[in-house]
Amino acid sequence: ADHCFDYPLTPSDMNWEKYYPEKVKLGSKNNPEVQFADIGCGYGGLLITLATMFPETLMIGMEIRVKVSDYVMDRIAALRSQNPNDYQNVACLRTNAMKYLPNYFKKGQLTKMFFLYPDPHFKKAKHKWRIINQCLLAEYAYVMSVGGIIYTVTDVKDLHEWMVQHITEHPLFKRVGEDELVQDPVVSKLFSSSEEGQKVTRNNGDKFLAVFRRISDPYE
Ligand code: SAM
Repeated sequence: ADHCFDYPLTPSDMNWEKYYPEKVKLGSKNNPEVQFADIGCGYGGLLITLATMFPETLMIGMEIRVKVSDYVMDRIAALRSQNPNDYQNVACLRTNAMKYLPNYFKKGQLTKMFFLYPDPHFKKAKHKWRIINQCLLAEYAYVMSVGGIIYTVTDVKDLHEWMVQHITEHPLFKRVGEDELVQDPVVSKLFSSSEEGQKVTRNNGDKFLAVFRRISDPYE
């Protein structure tokens, strides 16, 4: 239940040193900030891949299931002890990302957000639980920097169309074209570095990708 979640009142109340002890020091003014968030990170495969591609960037997985987030934390701890100079920039926290995102990130903080194989919530009555929806997009726009990128992948065509429709309709996001996607080194990692992506590959499932850029607010 939700009362089990421990979350900071505001982003400045968050103790990131606990998650990145080699990178963040409590009280220091020069701490790097988390820039990538993998929402519903599952078993953490994408983050583990990105950690060594972007060694200077702090990245966090947000996962609601206790056992799954514990698994990811243990996995990262093991990787850190085997490779003392790597994986210091990656961490996972257990939270409900649909409720607490602005408690963790301040305005304009994130440069990349990942939504890989989000739960489809097939039935119409359950669509409100989809992690991409009109209300939550306002929060995603808030925590993202101008120029920041949202990546979405799913094997469910109906969910893909839903995500494309809602994000395209939002005034602060613009779809990124194919020509740009081929130049983005992250894109090729989106399909099978995560565990759900590997499962879809094993089952010969479809993979639908859509990428969006946070654009500037003309009223700001
Ligand atoms: N992204 C991962 C991958 O590609 O392997 C996992 C995909 S899995 C189908 C969806 C994940 O989202 C599950 O691990 C689930 O527990 C998590 N999730 C669902 N709702 C969430 C929420 N509100 N906050 C955080 N995680 C959530």
